[in-house]
Parts: sequence; C-alpha cells; structure tokens
Amino acid sequence: MTLPPVTRFAPSPTGYLHLGHVVSALHARQTAGPSGRFLVRIEDIDTTRCTPDLTESLRQDLQWLGLWPTEPVRQQSQHIDAYKAVLNHLRQRKLLYPCFCTRSEIAAATSGRQAPDGSTVYPGTCRTGASENGRSPVWRLDMERALNEIHGVPSWYEVGQGRIAGRAEEFGDIVLGRRDTGVSYHLCVTHDDALQGVTCVTRGQDLYAATSVHRVIQALMKWPEPAYRHHALILDDEGKKLSKRDGAEGVRVLRSLGWSAENVLQHPLVVKALGDS
Ligand code: GLU
Repeated sequence: MTLPPVTRFAPSPTGYLHLGHVVSALHARQTAGPSGRFLVRIEDIDTTRCTPDLTESLRQDLQWLGLWPTEPVRQQSQHIDAYKAVLNHLRQRKLLYPCFCTRSEIAAATSGRQAPDGSTVYPGTCRTGASENGRSPVWRLDMERALNEIHGVPSWYEVGQGRIAGRAEEFGDIVLGRRDTGVSYHLCVTHDDALQGVTCVTRGQDLYAATSVHRVIQALMKWPEPAYRHHALILDDEGKKLSKRDGAEGVRVLRSLGWSAENVLQHPLVVKALGDS
C-alpha cells in the first residue's frame, strides 16, 4: 500500500509573492492530491534578506489565494538551534572543517571550476588545517570524506524520469555553516524535509542540481530519501525566467488592481507554466 504523499512549498520571503511562487505552490498541492498533505515552510534563515514584513505579506497573499494550509507552518528562523545541532554532529564525525578564506582568496586560488549549480568549486585551501586569522570561519563539508563514508555518489528519484545519477563529487567542499547565519540552505532544507516527513520534494528546476548535495546530507544523516519533482520555471512573455520581481507578476500588485484570487490562479503565465511541466 502506498501512503498518501507529503509535499511542501518552501518559499524564502526575500520579496513579495509572485506568480513563480504561485506555480510552485500549485505544483506541490497538486502532487499532494486530495489524500496527501501539502505543507508550507518559510525558509527565512537569512534574516537580513527575509524580514518579518515580507513573511507576513507572503502569508496574507497565500491565504487570499487559498494556498495557506490548515496545518502549522514551520518557520526556519525559529529553529536555528536544531540546524546547529546537525552541524555539530557532522563536525564531531570530522566531516566538516573550518574555512577562513575570503571570497577573493578563493577566487585567486581556484582553477575556475564551476559546480553543477554554477557556484565556484572551493579549491580546498583550508582542508588540511587552516590557521585561524581572527575571522570567523565557514564550515565546509569534506566531500571526499563524505562520499567515502556513504560509499559513493548518491542518485535520486525524479518523478516521471526515474533514477538520476548524482553529481555531488563535482561540487567540492560546499559550505554547510555560513559565516553570517551559522547554518545553510542545504542543511536546513534536508533537515526539515526529513523532520516533516516530506515524501515528494516539489520545487523549481533551478534547484535540480542542488539535489545531488541534498542526497549526500540525507545519506550521511540516514534521513529518508524523498522523491523529487522539479517543475519548469515560469517564464515571462519573452520566454525569460521570471524571478523575484514585483510589477505585473506580483500578487500584491494584481490584488491592488482588482484581480480576484481565481483570476490570479488562472493567470495565463501560471497556466502555461503548469502545462510546461
Ligand atoms: N526556499 C527555497 C527558495 O525559495 C526553495 C527551497 C526548496 O524548495 O528546496 O528558493
């Protein structure tokens, strides 16, 4: 017997709700279906970019659209200690090391290698023990060590496609503990998906590459492996990626122009993006 799916929509409130968010939320809700659970999680560990005002406005707009669940909504900024405990645990297993490099030092030392998500691959300067230099460190995952421990690069299951070969080794030593917030997106997202029993991670195609990294953390922590469903991103009329813009794609703006919730959910760009996936 297959259990009903648990899905989530996990926006970062760095701006107002836009049609891209609406598409993501609708995908997640659709994946949950009538018998599954659709969760909303606010990913606001970066408290300089994610303000309480933006979180509140996101909540209001989602509620207005009927996309705010009846179940409790997890807000990551309230659980930093839980993420730090995971970081500590990995540190004790000697899977993390402190890195004191600045961005420019990394840029100067790097071979210019890019990870599959477009980030710069860390050249490994601090891997063999860095001398403290008065800066506070970031904490990096020793990827080679991690992959040895979990016996290779994990794959993932993409709904509609089957097993996808992971590319974790191409990421190098990623940051799991940021200098500013102490934690990181990769760490928090995998922790919460496990904690909340998410069985199908539904999110935009822009996070496809990051899944390789998420699978490593899940394997290291022996957290269950969810399925993934990466959906097409919403594109504007010129076929360009619609990102965190306000304007005609902002739900707040459409509301103020007198659009009904139903009309926003049926916006031609939303309908097209749902059809593209
Ligand atoms: N919070 C992330 C974002 O808004 C999405 C995280 C995820 O769905 O895994 O880009």
